[in-house]
Order: sequence, then structure tokens, then C-alpha cells
Amino acid sequence: MQIEKDVKTIINSLKDSSIDYKGLRVLISGGAGFLGSYICDVLIEMGATVFCVDNLSSGRLENIQDLIDQKEDQFTFMRQDIVDASVLEIEDQFDVILHLASRAAPMEFEKYPIAILSTNTIGTMNTLELAKRSNAKILFTSTSETYGDPDPQFVPTPETYAGSVISTGIRSCYEEGKRSGEAFMAAYLRQYGINTRIVRIFNTYGPRIRADGVYGRVVPRFVNQALIGDPITVFGDGAQTRSFSYATDTVEGILRAAILDSASGEIFNIGNDKEMTVLQLAKIVKEQTNSDSEFVFSKLPEGDPKRRCPNVTKAKTILNWSPKVDLHTGLKNFISWVSELK
Ligand code: UDP
Repeated sequence: MQIEKDVKTIINSLKDSSIDYKGLRVLISGGAGFLGSYICDVLIEMGATVFCVDNLSSGRLENIQDLIDQKEDQFTFMRQDIVDASVLEIEDQFDVILHLASRAAPMEFEKYPIAILSTNTIGTMNTLELAKRSNAKILFTSTSETYGDPDPQFVPTPETYAGSVISTGIRSCYEEGKRSGEAFMAAYLRQYGINTRIVRIFNTYGPRIRADGVYGRVVPRFVNQALIGDPITVFGDGAQTRSFSYATDTVEGILRAAILDSASGEIFNIGNDKEMTVLQLAKIVKEQTNSDSEFVFSKLPEGDPKRRCPNVTKAKTILNWSPKVDLHTGLKNFISWVSELK
């Protein structure tokens, strides 16, 4: 089973720095989501006690059902919105808090902008309040979208790039929401000395990522289309670029940044630095699935960034982390997970 293999891979990858969550109490918002549920699986396997808060808006109960059923002494699920003031009534103490909750797909930005903005502003403040009370380390999952549509001379983009974002643009709920979340982290660090860390995640794919409806991202959409022989829907001419990270690499980066002392107060890009066009991706998916699907081209969505690729030097140097899974291997894993569902 692909997810079990991936969980083992992540745990092994953390051994070199003796990173161990055994016995720690971890609160995770968005723990029923794609990356959040991977993190829950890894932390439980490592012997942590996990409190998962999720409102199931884009996360799915099935991602954590096994943990609910089989790990009740280690795993607690609270169906709650991290924006809701009632989360401040949680009385438990935590060692580490991971704030992952947020819708993240561009089609959701158009449909749920207020919720997205709230999750990343009020939700971030709420998690910071919980961290303050527990004296916990807190990690906020920010995004490459804080860079907006970066000036090409800053691609690959380092953490020092200030960004090129339109504050009222169609993607602004996510871009500015995440930027505000980062500002909250910086404010709590300055004013209260909270032990913060921020990771800016670049396009990640893997088992449990959604392909359906407004939740669908490009990799799962292309793979599903190719597997069933539907047309592969390339937006624009496909010349826009992205850099695709497999889940195990991204989760490893998050779990390093969340706990290492060297990460305190810092911001890290976490993603794969192999940049490619969306059309190249479409061709690779078609080839790897032996598909007869045609490519169909349609209008590029408004505000779609032209290029995106991280400079990951900082994470390599400070976290001893680097992306390891190439697209071919990652797609093979992802396709094998999709086949398990059949
Ligand atoms: N895209 C595409 N066809 C699709 C879905 C997405 O060509 O069916 C493109 C989209 O326009 C963007 C890239 O793929 O340039 C990545 O899209 P995704 O929704 O995964 O997330 P983004 O990187 O834009 O946040």
C-alpha cells in the first residue's frame, strides 16, 4: 500500500537528524486534509499524541478514519473550525502546533474567499494563542502564492523575495491570507517571543490529494483524465511553469522545520526545484499512463502565475532537507495509489 510505504520513507528520512516526535503532544489544524493526514499518520507511527482539528470543508474523514478507529489512545479528532473562538477553550497543553488548515485549490479561491481569508488570519491568531498558552513551537504552512506572479529574474525564488501580489485579485484571499498569517506569526514572535516557524509550500501531489470538482489540482486532474481516456485539460497554451513536489518530500520538510531549534523564527521554501511547463507535465502524464487522451486547450484562469519554482538553498543548509523524489517516481507512486482505489 502506497501510503504505508510513504509513511516509512518519511520516518526513515528524519533519522539522520535524530528527529523524534515520540511522546510529544501535537495539535494539528487541517489534519484531515491531504498533507495533514500524512502528518497524522507519521506522528502516530512515531509515538506522538495527536489532536487533530478539522472542519472537514476540504479535508475528508476517510483520511483519518483508521486512526480514529484504531489509535484512540493516541489520536483525538475534533470537528471544529479553527476560526471559531471555541478552539480557545481547548485546555490541553501542547509541545508542537502545526497550522495547516486552509482550502488551497484555485477554484476554491473563487467560491470560498471569505473562509480562506479567515482561516489564514483569524485561524492563525487562534493557533498562536494556543501556542502562547502552551509555550509550544508553532509552524504555519504558508505558500509559494505569497510570491504572487514573481518577476522572472527572481525565479527560482528565494525566501527574501518580497512578492508581487495584487491585493484585490481573484487569488488574493489565499495570497494575502497567507501573507497575513505570516505577519501574525512575525507579530507574535516580536511581541511575545513565541517559537514560530513558517514553511512556504510549493505545488505538492501524492496519495489523498483531491481530483474532484473545485478541489482538483493539476496533477490529480491530469492523471485521472489520462487514466480514463478523457481529454487532458491544459489551461492557456500550457507554457506557464510549476515545480512539483511529491508528498513525502514536503511532509519531511514540514516535520523538520516544525521541531529543529535552528528553524525558530525562520521561513523556508519547501518544494521541488525542477521547473517545467504545464504542457510538459501533460505530456509526461500521458506517456507514463500509456494514455490515448488528447490535449484540449482552454482559457488560462485569471491571475494564474506564469512561473513558479523555489530556491531551496536555505532549507538544504539549515534543515538538512532536500527534495529527493523526481517526477517520474512520484507519478509512479501516485498512479499506484489511484489504482488501489479501484
Ligand atoms: N492547470 C491546467 N489544467 C487543469 C488544472 C490546472 O492546465 O486542469 C494549470 C493551472 O492553470 C496552473 C497549473 O496547472 O497553471 C497548476 O494549477 P493548480 O490548480 O494545480 O494550482 P496552482 O499552482 O495554480 O496553485
